[in-house]
Amino acid sequence: MDLSKKIREIEDFPKPGIGFKDITTLLKDGEAFKYTVDCISENLRRHNVDIIVGPEARGFILGTPVAYNLGVGFVPIRKPGKLPGKVESYEYSLEYGTDVLEIHEDAITKGMRVAIVDDLLATGGTVAAATKLIEKLGGEVVSIEFLIELDFLDGRKKLDGYNVNTLVHYS
Ligand code: 5GP
Repeated sequence: MDLSKKIREIEDFPKPGIGFKDITTLLKDGEAFKYTVDCISENLRRHNVDIIVGPEARGFILGTPVAYNLGVGFVPIRKPGKLPGKVESYEYSLEYGTDVLEIHEDAITKGMRVAIVDDLLATGGTVAAATKLIEKLGGEVVSIEFLIELDFLDGRKKLDGYNVNTLVHYS
């Protein structure tokens, strides 16, 4: 299935000049959503993952059905102040300023084989931060799965050394 046909581009969102890849059109199409989740699950089957990690918010939407498919658990990575338990935090740079992501400190245990699932790889900052949090807790990031990759932003460079898979590329 050509998933690129199911993704809608919205011009000038969230700021002028940005063409936002809107996956809500894919998600509301049952066949396309199932195909997406099944493709990501298949990519991960050979890695014997113990747990799926997904960054807020679209990483939750794709990561949880993948975890369910594989029969493993799901761990959320969230913006500051959202997780109720004790957290590990990681601050990373954006084009202007910084951002922080958090994970429950007991969510991953030493030696766990972890896969990260998110909707889109842009600059790579979000998922690079996720790898740092997972590794701080002693997890091993065995694979990183995206629905979409914006090749022209070179986000893959920030994920050098990791196994990275993407279903739909924009160049
Ligand atoms: P990065 O940290 O790689 O620069 O940005 C990726 C994060 O921003 C992802 O978690 C993703 O959900 C969000 N994001 C950035 N641009 C887009 C976009 O065009 N479409 C969607 N669906 N998400 C985006």
